[in-house]
Amino acid sequence: MNNAQLNELKQRYVASGAASPATAFADRAENAEIWDADGNRFIDFAGGIGVLNIGHRHPKVVEAVKAQLDRVMHTCQTVMPYEGYVKVAEKLSQVTPVRGHAKVMLANSGAEALENAVKVARAATGKNNVICFDGGYHGRTFMTMAMNGKVAPYSTDFGSMPGNVFRAPFPVPYHGVSEDEALRGLKMTLKTDANPKDTAAIVLEPVLGEGGFYPAPPSFLKAIREICDEHGILMIIDEVQSGFGRTGKLFAIEHSGVEPDIMTMAKSMADGMPISAVVGTDKVMDASGGNSLGGTYTGSPVSCAATLAVLEVFEQENILEKSQALGDKLAARFATWQRDFACIDNARNMGAMAAFDVVADKSAHSPDAELTAALCKKAREKGLILLSCGMYGNTIRFLMPVTIEDAILEEGLDIIETCLKELAGQQSAATA
Ligand code: PMP
Repeated sequence: MNNAQLNELKQRYVASGAASPATAFADRAENAEIWDADGNRFIDFAGGIGVLNIGHRHPKVVEAVKAQLDRVMHTCQTVMPYEGYVKVAEKLSQVTPVRGHAKVMLANSGAEALENAVKVARAATGKNNVICFDGGYHGRTFMTMAMNGKVAPYSTDFGSMPGNVFRAPFPVPYHGVSEDEALRGLKMTLKTDANPKDTAAIVLEPVLGEGGFYPAPPSFLKAIREICDEHGILMIIDEVQSGFGRTGKLFAIEHSGVEPDIMTMAKSMADGMPISAVVGTDKVMDASGGNSLGGTYTGSPVSCAATLAVLEVFEQENILEKSQALGDKLAARFATWQRDFACIDNARNMGAMAAFDVVADKSAHSPDAELTAALCKKAREKGLILLSCGMYGNTIRFLMPVTIEDAILEEGLDIIETCLKELAGQQSAATA
């Protein structure tokens, strides 16, 4: 079927809250390129929203998935366990910087991992409250919607949210929240709202994803670690977007040297197969027993095979070095745009977790969400998939495969530059 026919089906049958506004349907993909149902080619700077750090259909992952399909597709691991699950658990226990000996449970999505992280934190502490951060994003289930610090459009229409969730400021000096202020805010939340003796966990992303690609300073993470230790609160680090090599380390928290009690991960864990994980200290992970964690499909054999292949690719193909090198290239190009274009500001990156802001006025840091949307639209028309994010909708974020070929990277960046020139031309024509 072609794009037009598929769009008709979409209009008629797909719930509008689930339907993509995009009109080109993916038909085939390889590394950093996608071809649509009409045969048009796109360069993919979105990576399926951070899922494809090692590229679309990495050959070693495809091979491992095909081999698994020929053995066992499903048994439900609580009914009859299988090798893939325990091997993924072993590997993740070894490669995550969780304190002490880590144990693992697998789930299907990022949100589900967060749900389970809160469950084990409550079981282990016997406490109820959870503190999250402004700008944080954790998913679209009810608990994770309550935890999101970036509310619209995720929970606006869906009635009341679960309670016992409190919020603290996340340090973003560019938008006027210094690290000191954020820390004071957290202490205030603990003192006046959450109460340390009722608080099970403090949950944060080491780099805000949907909230705008802002890393938490290492000293902020260390201060949270100390607060947690002082009050018997568990530190949960959400690596769903920042994990699996995006930032130049396997996990972003490694940049700080802080050891969390619990980590959540998903997205690039299996190169597109659905799977997620909660990795935590054995005491925490063993606090609830007997089938309390999991579900019919959690840690499917096929997704586990993909995860093991992904981890092998990390060992064999210098993915972390590639991530750092890609980040350096992006940073260099962003610096020229920030210099040459009045609307580009606040370029930042941690490895290949890179972004810049689109602004109406650099000195005021005033967001221009309209121009951001126009840039993404124009890029898509020219065959580049570009993603925005951020509390103000004016951040362009980069989540292309870190395995992207140099020529394709340059081609994509050149498309952005052309779009910026055209939009800047339109802007000055409009103001002339
Ligand atoms: N946590 C973070 C940091 C995320 O970026 C996301 C997804 N954008 C989620 C959780 C939710 O993951 P999923 O969409 O797989 O439920």
